[in-house]
Amino acid sequence: MAVNPEKLAKDKEKMLRFDLKGRDIIDTKVLTAMEKIPREVFISENYADQTYFDCPLPIGCGQTISQPYIVALMTQSLRLDETCEVLEIGTGCGYQTAILAEIAKKVYTIERFNELSESAQAAIGKLGCTNIEFAVGDGSCGWPQERTFDRIILTAAAPRLPDELAGQLREGGIIVAPVGGEYVQYLMRYEKRGGKIIETSICGCRFVKMLGKCGWPE
Ligand code: SAH
Repeated sequence: MAVNPEKLAKDKEKMLRFDLKGRDIIDTKVLTAMEKIPREVFISENYADQTYFDCPLPIGCGQTISQPYIVALMTQSLRLDETCEVLEIGTGCGYQTAILAEIAKKVYTIERFNELSESAQAAIGKLGCTNIEFAVGDGSCGWPQERTFDRIILTAAAPRLPDELAGQLREGGIIVAPVGGEYVQYLMRYEKRGGKIIETSICGCRFVKMLGKCGWPE
């Protein structure tokens, strides 16, 4: 059953006020994107009433969409602007993809599950975004064609930062990724300066695993 649009608007307002601005989300580009993109387009009917709650929700194929605060924190940590070309590994339902595309110049996003990529494309199609390229396959070693990016975001957890991903990052670029153990990780930011990678830890976190050649074994 469709959720009352008034409830959704109220919940979204609460998300912005308490879960994002009430914590440490201060980047106005991120706040504006999260206000504009309708999260309800990406959430299955079974969980529609929890669309704007600050919790992860199932999206099918045993995967989850991150809670709004984590989407905002990761986007803010990328320090995005309208000149950035971004690689996202783990399209999932496409919500994070849409937030990135709202701020950046172009988003390249790759997902292991064809089913998830297809539904993400359908949802994003409803929003009319045109600056996104989708791919299906193992993105753990990066985009399948040779190219480089200003920003890279992993929405699934890796045991370590793969050299192949660092290789696809441009000078001055930033990678944000959950890295660590199978069940808990640190959300990390890596910056490429003078060809070297400088790492900082943002906070503890818990993500689904990035499976694949440069991730966890399948
Ligand atoms: N940002 C997504 C998060 C989805 S969860 C959202 O908002 O819905 C992480 C996603 O990463 C899952 O869909 C999972 O299938 C995908 N994934 C895991 N390993 C991957 C890999 N090696 N390549 C591409 N996608 C991967």
